[in-house]
Amino acid sequence: MKVKIYRGTKEIGGTCVELTADNGKVLWVDLGAPLDNTNPNVDYAQNKLDALLISHPHQDHFGLMEKVGTTVPIFIGELSLDLINATKIFRAIPQLNGNFKTIKPWESFTIADTFRVKPFLTDHSTPEAFAFLIEADDKRIFYSGDFRATGRKNIVYKKQIENPSENIDLLLIEGTMVERTNHLYSTEDSVEEAIYNTIKAQTNLSFVISSAQNIDRLISVFRACKRTQKYLVIDVYSAWILEMVRKQSKNIPAIEWEEIKVYDHPSQLEKIKDPSFDDFRNRIKPQRVGNSVFSNPSDYVYFVRCPNEKLIDKLRGKGTINIIYSQWEGYLLEEHKNFCTDNLNALKKDSDISFQTIHTSGHATVPDLMKFAKAINSKKIVPIHTAFPEQFKKEFEKQGFSNITLWEDGKEYSL
Ligand SMILES: [Zn+2]
Ligand SMILES: [Zn+2]
Repeated sequence: MKVKIYRGTKEIGGTCVELTADNGKVLWVDLGAPLDNTNPNVDYAQNKLDALLISHPHQDHFGLMEKVGTTVPIFIGELSLDLINATKIFRAIPQLNGNFKTIKPWESFTIADTFRVKPFLTDHSTPEAFAFLIEADDKRIFYSGDFRATGRKNIVYKKQIENPSENIDLLLIEGTMVERTNHLYSTEDSVEEAIYNTIKAQTNLSFVISSAQNIDRLISVFRACKRTQKYLVIDVYSAWILEMVRKQSKNIPAIEWEEIKVYDHPSQLEKIKDPSFDDFRNRIKPQRVGNSVFSNPSDYVYFVRCPNEKLIDKLRGKGTINIIYSQWEGYLLEEHKNFCTDNLNALKKDSDISFQTIHTSGHATVPDLMKFAKAINSKKIVPIHTAFPEQFKKEFEKQGFSNITLWEDGKEYSL
């Protein structure tokens, strides 16, 4: 078997790995969009392949997926598809169109009569993320995908350590956290605790800024609200995300629960006016909170991606407004700017606002990566999804690993 990493040996973003079996069959694992514009070249996405396997619904793993067209089979989790489509619904852009084959955790399957694949659920900042064990030509590759050991699903990390996949020839392992730290809040539980401590004393509304698709975080906020008897306000988009996740797991809050309120933003309601959303619309109706939030704002915590300025203005003069920034701090910097960066940076300086960051990463710390790599015990380890491969190698070698190999983007290696 031959292996090529099109992108990802030196960057976080644009992950794409190509496996070519001895019979010529080609499988790609992930086809992500680059996260910055230093190298916009994605010509490889036009190359020929027999199938595509997607690890999870983050842009840097699926973002270029539609470039393979509508005939190439795309193996992907059902919830991942629903989450990607959710974003499209609320941006009013067409739903995904492709030859999708849905996969389930721990259920093995064969691709193109050649690649035997077993997906493992990982603990990550999206509710459905997979690692893959891929076998072909008597070789075994373990693709870690994105993972951590400190979230609400850390049982799956522990299980992989206790009962690891064996006889692995190549481990492709993520290295996001090399040169990043997680020292303030190391676990999802510590995030919950810190949010609890902030909101219990609130005299006005608190906003928690995070991704609606980070269900671990939504649950942390929900639990903090329950402990302080606050209502958790979500927008219509987040309510739809909860619906999608509840289809797979009843272990998460439902929109009908009395602690949940839905902020009925007219432009979001407009996106779901189609009759196919009738049932959902009817079910969020009793939960809708709208402007009543302003009469008693200290009873509410609003989980949202971007705090609306008009809303903030209505809250002024009623006590300090908390903004709990609960996602990667990089999004506040110019180089990773998004639609809310300027807004948030302005609010940071606002005297009516107390701005604090309470976040833990969706990625494993270097010691957790090492524990994982040690358990998998692969003949060869190649870091991927890292901006600092040299540093990765150095740190691993310091701890006794002698099998770390650095690869180049676009170069083919034989196993
Ligand atoms: Zn991810
Ligand atoms: Zn990623």
